[in-house]
This record gives sequence, C-alpha cells and structure tokens, in this order.
Amino acid sequence: MNQGGCIRGLGEPLRKSSTNWMRSTLTRYTLAIVFVAAALLVALLLQRLMEAATLLLVAIMAATWFGGLGPGLLAGLLAALAVAYRLPPPDSFKVDIKDIPRLLFFLVAALFISWVSTTRRKAEDSLKKARDEVEQANESLERQVAERTAQLTRQNMQLVQEVTERKLAEEKVQENERELRLLTEVIPQQIWSALPDGSIEHCNQRVLTYLGRTMEEMRGFGFVEVLHPDDRDRILKEWQEAVSQGTVFDVEARHLGGDGQYRWFLARALPVRNAEGDIVKWYGTNTDIEDRKQAEQALLKAQTELAHLSRALTMGELAASIAHEVNQPLSAVVTNANACLRWLAGDTPNLGEACDAAKRIVRDGNRAAEVIRKIRTLLKKVPTQMVRLDVNELIREVMDLARSQIALNRVALRMRLGTDVPSVLGDRVQLQQVVLNLIMNSVEAIGAVRDGPRDLEVGSRRTAPDEVLVWVRDSGVGFDPANQDKLFDAFYTTKPGGMGMGLSISQSVIEAHGGKLRAIANDEGGASFQFTLAAAKESAR
Ligand code: ADP
Repeated sequence: MNQGGCIRGLGEPLRKSSTNWMRSTLTRYTLAIVFVAAALLVALLLQRLMEAATLLLVAIMAATWFGGLGPGLLAGLLAALAVAYRLPPPDSFKVDIKDIPRLLFFLVAALFISWVSTTRRKAEDSLKKARDEVEQANESLERQVAERTAQLTRQNMQLVQEVTERKLAEEKVQENERELRLLTEVIPQQIWSALPDGSIEHCNQRVLTYLGRTMEEMRGFGFVEVLHPDDRDRILKEWQEAVSQGTVFDVEARHLGGDGQYRWFLARALPVRNAEGDIVKWYGTNTDIEDRKQAEQALLKAQTELAHLSRALTMGELAASIAHEVNQPLSAVVTNANACLRWLAGDTPNLGEACDAAKRIVRDGNRAAEVIRKIRTLLKKVPTQMVRLDVNELIREVMDLARSQIALNRVALRMRLGTDVPSVLGDRVQLQQVVLNLIMNSVEAIGAVRDGPRDLEVGSRRTAPDEVLVWVRDSGVGFDPANQDKLFDAFYTTKPGGMGMGLSISQSVIEAHGGKLRAIANDEGGASFQFTLAAAKESAR
C-alpha cells in the first residue's frame, strides 16, 4: 500500500504534466526498454551491491505502471533475456538446465509484478475516476445547493419585505385611525362611526357627554334608546334603507339628552368604500338644530296666525255675499213657515201641503247651516292636516261661498273642471283659502274694469300622470309684467285697502304642498293665476 502510494506520489506529477506524451504507444514501449536498460546500467555500476534481478523487477513494475500491460510484458521479456544473458554460461543467451527454475521463477515474478502493477494502476484509475465523478457530483450538488440557497434567500427577502410593507401599512392605518379619532374629539361636532351592518362602532366624547351614556351603552344599536319614541320607527327604517342601499343618511330626529330633555338633531352619515367599492365604514355627524326647529315652529305659528287673519279679512270682504247666501235660505224658511201655518190653520188643515212646506223649511235650514259650516271651517284655527282631497269638490265648496260676490259684481263665471283630475294629498282649509284668495282677487280686478268683458274662468285638469293644474283666469285690470315677481312679496299691494299678504301666503301654502304658484299676464288683458299639485299616490287612501 505504502509502496503503491509512494510510486503514485512520484508518478502523479509526471503523469499529470505529460498526459499526451503518455498516450503515445511508441513512447510507452520505448519507456519499457529504457527502464530495463536503466536497471541493467545501474546493476552494472553498482556491481555486486545490488542484485540485477531486483532492479529489473523494479524496471518491469515501472514500465507496467507508466506504460500498461504491453510495455510491462515487453520489459519482462527484455529482463528475462538479460537475466538469461547473465546466467552461466555468461555472455550467452544459453541457460544451464539447473538455472532454468531460477529463470522461470524470475519470469513468474515478472509476470506477477506486471499483473499486480496493472491491477493497481487500474484500481488507481477507477478510484481517480470515481473521485472525479464524486467531485463533479459534489460540484453540481454544491452548485444546486448554492442556487437553491440563493433562491430561498431571495424568496425570504421578498417575504421579509412584504411583511415589513404590510406592517408599515397597518401601522399607517392605525396611525390614521388615531389621528382621525383625535380629530373627531377636537372638532366641535358630535361625530360617530358605524360598521357596514349599521351597528355603531364609535362615538366621540361630545356624543357621549350630550347623551350621558357610555361607549359600551351606545355600541351596536344602543342609539335606538335615545331616539324619541315617535321618531324611532321612521329613523330605524331610514337607517336600514341607507345601510342596505349605500345611500346618504340624512334625517331629523329628537335625541334624549343626559338631562332628560329631547332636542332636535340633524343626523347625517356617508359610507366609506374600499377600492372594490364595498362599504367598509359609515361616518356620521349629529348637528343640534333645536334652535332652528323652534324658529321654524315660531314662523309656522306666525304664518298660521297671519293666514287666519287673512282669512278673516277675506271673510269680512265676503260678508255681504255671505249674508246674502245665508239670508236667502232663511227668507225661504220664513216664507215656508208662514205657508205651513196657513195650511194648518182653518177647519180643514191641508196636512199634505203643510208637510211639503215643512220639508222645504228643513231643506233651506240645512242650506243655511251648510253655508255657516263652510265659513266656520275656513275660519277655524286648526293645525295642518294632510288628507286625500278631491280637487274639484274643494273648488266647488269655495265657489259656494264666493258665488254671491261674483253675481254682485256682474261677473260671468265659467267652470272648467276636468273629469279625470286625480286626488291630491293636502290640507283642505289651506288649499280652499288659496283658491278663495285667487277668486276674490280676480273678482276685485274685474270689478275695477269699467268697460269690456267681465269674465272669470276657474278650471282644473291633469297635466301629467301625477300632476294636477288649477287655474283662475280673469279679464280684469291685469298687472304690469315687470311687477310679476313682486306680486308674491309679502305686503306688496296696489289696492288702497289691500294688505298684500294673500298671494304671499298662497305661495307658501302651495310650496309646502310641493307645488308651484304662477302669475301670468294674459295677452288679451287680465290675469291668470295657476298652481300645480302632485297627485296622491294610490296607497295614500
Ligand atoms: P292684496 O289683494 O291685499 O293686494 P295679494 O297678495 O292678494 O294682496 O295681491 C297682491 C297684489 O297682486 C294685488 O295688490 C294686485 O296688485 C296683484 N293682483 C293679485 N291678483 C290679481 C289679479 N287677479 N289681477 C291683477 N292683479 C292682481
């Protein structure tokens, strides 16, 4: 083993540096001859110090090692010849019979050495090959490991980057949330937020302080408790609608404060959506509108008072006409009562005629009572009552009151009430007042005309599937179109005893009903006033 390692150690650099040279067959065989010659030369020089046979065996081994089996066998043959040459008789290739075993032994030794050397060489080569292959496999494995490691490192870094970015984003969101919360506490406004399902998530301190409640009490649907019982159903319905449809929430409702008092608030909320368009949160504000509400109510009260006053004045103007309206049936009652008495007097009372007279008394009495009922209705101070109304019936009732005034002023009345006019939702008294105002203005305008036609037209018709138009058209003095806008101003009047409130009140009444009141200067003279009203929905019965 040691010997092989030593030889390999000597031979390796030589082999490595001269691979091509070793490949040449000629060189290898020449080398075998050189090795044998060298061994003989060394044996000659060293004479008896060293056995020539031993040196020759070394030469055979070297030839086999470096040249392979062929050169080894050649070296063995040459060495055998040299040994035979040196054996007695000397300087001849003849060999004594007694030396033949020695020669044979040498040959066997030479062959054995060649074989051992070749085997070792082959083992050495395959070991080297195996080592090279292992090295190659190692290198490829190392390369693969390095690539995989690099890939894993890259993936790792990417992952770390993503995690860092996400963490930063989360921190940013939290930071924004903190800032927002801080902002909501600083702004002098009640602010709250809700989750996509409509449950309250957060209320700023102002909300909690006003309501005198804790965040735990308000979280979820705790806000229902603070709503006025009359507002609760409406607000819940509107909030549910806004939440399900993602629309703006905008309602007025009374909130119960911590002091046990209700105040009016305007609650508004808007949805916040993510990139996909899904609602992620609702942000809302509550604005105290108690003062505004009170002012509105005071204004409404003042308007009602004024409207009442105006109605009373209109009634005053109508006094003669009303007196006539009531007087007529009352005179008839007296006449019929006298007749009745006459039919009953005498020996043979005519019961049939008396009965007819009594029936007429009842009829005329009812007629007078009806006129008085209508006047009282118009003069009654009642809060607004929105009910389903037949527009034509409403106009006819007003005409009953104004008819005498119309006749007194020798006005030719034309009624053009449509047959397919839909019902409207409104306050009977207020709308009657509007129609009465318009008719009285027209009668006055016609009364101021000396010559010319004295026409008044009152009409109604359906202008759209869900709209009704009512008009009052006269051939009166008319108005200057330049003053068209002023007509509806409060206290604007061109009449010496006028108040200038009729049209102003009429306009606010019509607008409160969702309609529009317009004045038109007729081309042929006179004026037209018309207003629209929305038809009542089928369900509003
Ligand atoms: P008033 O009748 O007390 O003056 P109104 O508000 O009813 O108050 O009317 C305001 C003004 O509009 C009237 O003074 C008049 O100048 C004008 N006006 C109203 N109706 C008519 C009409 N039918 N024809 C001409 N002018 C009218």
